[in-house]
Amino acid sequence: QCQTPDDVLRVISEKGIVFIDLKFSDPFGQWQHLTIPAHEFSAESFENGIPFDGSSIRGWKGIQESDMLLIPDPKSAFIDPFIEEPTISLVCDVEDPITREAYNRDPRQIAKKAIEFLKSTGIGDIAFFGPEAEFFIFDDIKFSNGPNHSYYEIDSVEGWWNTGREEMPNLGYKTPYKRGYFPVPPLDKMSAIRRDMVKTLEEVGITVEREHHEVGTAGQGEINFRFADLVTTGDNVLKYKYVLRNVGFKHGKYVTFLPKPIAGDNGTGMHIHFSIWKGGENMFAGDQYAGLSEIALYAIGGIIKHGKAIAAFTNPTTNSYHRLVPGFEAPVRLAYSARNRSAAIRIPMGSASPKAKRIEVRFPDASSNPYLAFVALLMAAIDGIENKIHPGEPLDKDIYSLSPEELANVPETPASLQEAIDALKADMDFLLKGGVMDEDFIQMWIETKQEEVDAIRLVPHPKEFELYYDI
Ligand code: GLU
Ligand code: MG
Ligand code: MG
Repeated sequence: QCQTPDDVLRVISEKGIVFIDLKFSDPFGQWQHLTIPAHEFSAESFENGIPFDGSSIRGWKGIQESDMLLIPDPKSAFIDPFIEEPTISLVCDVEDPITREAYNRDPRQIAKKAIEFLKSTGIGDIAFFGPEAEFFIFDDIKFSNGPNHSYYEIDSVEGWWNTGREEMPNLGYKTPYKRGYFPVPPLDKMSAIRRDMVKTLEEVGITVEREHHEVGTAGQGEINFRFADLVTTGDNVLKYKYVLRNVGFKHGKYVTFLPKPIAGDNGTGMHIHFSIWKGGENMFAGDQYAGLSEIALYAIGGIIKHGKAIAAFTNPTTNSYHRLVPGFEAPVRLAYSARNRSAAIRIPMGSASPKAKRIEVRFPDASSNPYLAFVALLMAAIDGIENKIHPGEPLDKDIYSLSPEELANVPETPASLQEAIDALKADMDFLLKGGVMDEDFIQMWIETKQEEVDAIRLVPHPKEFELYYDI
């Protein structure tokens, strides 16, 4: 674990490092990279940064002002397990080369500003995040976007969802529908791959707590790793996705974090466990409902109040909203509960220790940019705390089974990306506080997401042929 530029330079010489791979997050949470030979890298690279052309990164600068700087973070250094020649990877911040200010559309810089803002409020000095990013492992995904309609086929060795696999009839050891959670092999055919993922995650410095098959039939899995502060956990989520995709690829499989790849099977969530600490004390632990503090209740109030706008960041794809439907352990209502997994916010009761007290926000998914998802939640929580927004009574019943009357006052999760971005348009002030996000960034986000909504609107859906072809 490196701390300073000197630590990194020492590793480079001691380990005979040949390449430095510089990685950074684009606005949508995809790692981008550029590689430089070790002889081109020195202490100055940390100081002066590495120039690159940001104009072709989606959502970033126009061609007329495309020069930007990558500033490597020594604490993020890891030996890249997927590059044959000894290579050190460094996660970078993005700066403007002239002003040397944080680039306002760099999500990692936004994350850093959010923590500075948290400190400035006096509410806390650190926020811990523990995400549970689920995923599917498929043999193959074929999709086509024809001019007239689009379709896709998924191959999976597991479960009866294997379309187009005549050579693999369902003779046995096939996961029965939604019974993947979690019998031993040979029913669990993905466990060797998941163990390989765990080993590789630990090699790159991520402490894994457990791995298991998930409920989804066609090879769904989940690997949980140790919580950490906001920026570190943002880095870790991107590292996690990088490792999982590449380990899967080595095994000839495709790992996807698409929130709802298969209609009728469970979707892929990224539940986010979250607490705010001050002076080494957990500000979310107390003597109110489910061992929460009053501050934690206000944080929940803020998240429920701004829930639909938050979703534009935590559930930022059109596909996200296929997941937020009843019946698949994904939340459909912005309510909270200690027991209830159908609520958008759950209070885990597994440990009595105040140190472990946290809230679990269940609507986010892993198509989000983790930095922005965490920031949106944190900013809503701060708004709730500052304005003492009480969340009302908990909803300790199975929400899927409640009547419309019982649910009359419980807000719903958005039904579509359109609804989420419309909510964000009307409710963005909580994100602008302290200059954490700015209007330029949110405007870019709304425009890009609107383009995605419109792109989908242009394409007839296969289901429409079933419903309407004969009309
Ligand atoms: N896959 C479920 C979701 O879409 C969650 C299952 C679980 O409780 O871990 O959120
Ligand atoms: Mg899960
Ligand atoms: Mg969970």
